[in-house]
Amino acid sequence: MDNRVKKILVVDDEKMNIATLAQFLKPQYEIIVAVDGPSALEVAETQSPDLILLDVVMPDMNGFEVLAKLKYSAVTINIPVIFITGLDSAKDEEKGLLLGAVDYIAKPFNKSVVKARINTHIKMAEYIHTIEKLCLLDALTGLPNRRGFDSRFDLELARAHRDKTPLGVILLDIDRFKLYNDTYGHPQGDVLLKSIANVLHETVSRSVDFTSRWGGEEFIVLLPSTDKEGTGKIAEQIRNNVKKTIVPYADGISTSVTVSIGGVSVIPDDGYSSAAFVSCVDKLLYKAKDNGRDQVCMG
Ligand code: GH3
Ligand code: MG
Ligand code: MG
Repeated sequence: MDNRVKKILVVDDEKMNIATLAQFLKPQYEIIVAVDGPSALEVAETQSPDLILLDVVMPDMNGFEVLAKLKYSAVTINIPVIFITGLDSAKDEEKGLLLGAVDYIAKPFNKSVVKARINTHIKMAEYIHTIEKLCLLDALTGLPNRRGFDSRFDLELARAHRDKTPLGVILLDIDRFKLYNDTYGHPQGDVLLKSIANVLHETVSRSVDFTSRWGGEEFIVLLPSTDKEGTGKIAEQIRNNVKKTIVPYADGISTSVTVSIGGVSVIPDDGYSSAAFVSCVDKLLYKAKDNGRDQVCMG
């Protein structure tokens, strides 16, 4: 959990209410404010508060509408929202919670209780964030896993399509890895997988590039704004660097492996999907295997 001072957005059309809340929250939290719905949405988008305290009754756009819009945007969907309101009917409370608020506090409120509830919800949001992050990582290599890759791929595909730039994709598979496991044992196979991840980390170095563990012994690399020639070059470097890498085994025995690689670079047009990329690069990988392994096949 990080230790930075958490930021709370207080939304209320009554400045007095804002002042009251800000006054007892301020020593512990950074407070930012908005006095109507539209500006609350803007501040939430641009300043990423850790939690929002939202009034219900406001002119123009009420709190329920604000919450519905917050839940509609990918940027704000995960920010916990607590209603603080003079409306105290069970119907209103139910409506707020059904819309996705984490809590509903009716006025008049007890300051310590409000503070305790805020602390709890901020902590919960942090846990959820951490869990989500861990779900996108592969535990063995520390690289993004298939899920992490899929979400990044969609993003890069959309960007390449929009900017009309080539997107390079490299799929690599360790040669005869089953034999390696059978010879040296599964734990040593895991050591080898980690060292391949290391080679990829060192070889694929631009900050926009993205390397992930695609499956058991397959890795996939995204190279934004990289044409076929550039993609082929990186693929060859990976192949060479893996081949040169010595992975020590017990009793002074040195081991090494080779990889087969399929690579493409495409400026995606309308309807060119991530599945089309993967199918293409997968066929090329098989061709590299068929042609004798330890080689790159570019499409
Ligand atoms: P090819 O050259 O055709 O790719 O042969 P291969 O033996 O590499 O291919 P195959 O698909 O038959 O075997 C893949 C092996 O990868 C099988 C499995 O034992 C191993 N493997 C998959 N995931 C892991 C893992 O997390 N750790 C270890 N140690 N081995 C794994
Ligand atoms: Mg395989
Ligand atoms: Mg293999």
